[in-house]
Amino acid sequence: MAGLYFHIPFCRKACHYCNFHFSTSLRQKPAMVDALIRELTLRVDYLPQRQLDSVYLGGGTPSLLSADDLQRLFAAVHQYYQITPEAEITLEANPDDLNAEVLAQLADSPINRLSIGIQSFSEADLRYMNRAHNATEAHRCIELAQAAGFTDLTIDLIYGSPTTSDAQRAQRLATALAIGIPHHSSYALTGAPNTALDHFIRKGKAAPVEEDKAARHFEHLQDITAAAGYLHYEISNFALPDRFARHNTAYWQGVPYLGIGPSAHSFDGQSRQWNRAHNAQYLQALARDEVPFEREELSIPQRYNEYLLTGLRTMWGVQLDKITQLGTDYREHFLRQCQTFLTEGLLLETAGAYRLSAAGKLLADRIALALFWEED
Ligand code: SF4
Repeated sequence: MAGLYFHIPFCRKACHYCNFHFSTSLRQKPAMVDALIRELTLRVDYLPQRQLDSVYLGGGTPSLLSADDLQRLFAAVHQYYQITPEAEITLEANPDDLNAEVLAQLADSPINRLSIGIQSFSEADLRYMNRAHNATEAHRCIELAQAAGFTDLTIDLIYGSPTTSDAQRAQRLATALAIGIPHHSSYALTGAPNTALDHFIRKGKAAPVEEDKAARHFEHLQDITAAAGYLHYEISNFALPDRFARHNTAYWQGVPYLGIGPSAHSFDGQSRQWNRAHNAQYLQALARDEVPFEREELSIPQRYNEYLLTGLRTMWGVQLDKITQLGTDYREHFLRQCQTFLTEGLLLETAGAYRLSAAGKLLADRIALALFWEED
């Protein structure tokens, strides 16, 4: 079943490592909610069906939306779609936005899952990343969310920070797992091009990101989460059994989704499209009842490459049958290219399903790239 995504392009503070689309000026927030509703109305025929199994509010910082903003957004969604009774409805939230009053309002809304941007429980890490919250707030907001009745919680964590030793990282991860959260996403810190962190590292104003440290943290992460009963079901995602994120899993499995808002991506099964990542231009276009987007029809080689890139990142891997459906050339190419990785133990095969081993996960993107089909 299809999913719906809203991109809320505002943040209180710019985290130094971030390359998502957002503005720290909240001035346009009321107009943005109107425009999101307008886009939803204009694109009502995009999805092949009107039933939604997941709604995801991401960003940016969706916890900057007021109870009234949420109420208006969901009223619009209900006007055009039927949200199934068991649907997963997630809101990304930052710890500094979550107090008892806000959480009570969220618990009273259609939101049934919170994704909290903790990133770290260490004061030094949070300062290095320029996060808007501190370590006390990181702990406190989880307690408050649980007290407000949210059992479906996930937290984002970042590993590999130069401000954390291996021992500190291990101890904090153990603390995080002890909280009993059913799901977490863990990402390696990177100084991605054009981020503030990249700029500061180049100027010598911030300690550089160490790839070796990130690799050590990732290996430790795999060991300790497995011992605690979490399934490493996607390269950056860990869940207790049956607690997988439904919205993201559908995305990795190629289910259509509609993305609303500046920079939001959509997929209809055959093509991808992405909205302009510029708040003012997005608002101006919607004021004319136009959605500013670019679109790309996926060729067979692109579908093959995408399938490998996303499939290999999951614990289900890629199925030879599905590759064969794209053409026997693709099947032969895949079988030829994957031999080395099978021999080296980086790729494992069971009944026609190919997935990465623990060592292979460290090289996921490089392996997928080596298996890609090169377009003429
Ligand atoms: S809160 Fe999230 S989206 Fe906003 S700047 Fe920080 S990492 Fe980026």
